Formats: sequence, C-alpha cells, structure tokens
Amino acid sequence: MLTEILSDEQLIDLYTTPGYLVAVDYPKKEVKLHTVDCMLADPISSVGVKPSKARENKTGEFWFSESRKEANSKAEEIAKNKGYTYTICPICNR
Ligand SMILES: [Zn+2]
Repeated sequence: MLTEILSDEQLIDLYTTPGYLVAVDYPKKEVKLHTVDCMLADPISSVGVKPSKARENKTGEFWFSESRKEANSKAEEIAKNKGYTYTICPICNR
C-alpha cells in the first residue's frame, strides 16, 4: 500500500520497516527512489530529506511503499506527469 509521508516523524517511524521512499523535489524537478534506511531518506541526517519542511514550503512530496514495484510505479507516474527526471538513488540501490 502506498502511503503519503507528511512529516519527518512519520518517516523516522518507518526506518525499521523494509520499504521504499519516493522523494519528489519540486525545485530540482527530480523524483528519486530510496530504500527507507538510506541516509538520504533519513530526516535525522543532515543530508537526509525533510518531509515536514518540504510540505510547509511546498517544495516536495514523499511516498512510502513496502513494495519496490509499487514505489517505482508511483515515481514513474509523478515523473511522467510533471516532466521531472526520475533516478534511482545510487547510494541505496539494491
Ligand atoms: Zn538512497
């Protein structure tokens, strides 16, 4: 099941759940697929995504799924609809 991530806390709580994060960056026009345990998908990390802030500033959106296939489809759909680039994160790709 696909879940929209609306806050940092919600994403932090999912850290130990195996799954995938679709991170959409509006200013960069970029969609990225991460595993939830990637440091770039960790709001606590200085380099990690910040869903609360992105939502507040309307600079992005985030989706979680336990299924890579489902996360991948969502990422492709957003990238296609918005004309964004879609990349699979090179750090956590597996
Ligand atoms: Zn990653």
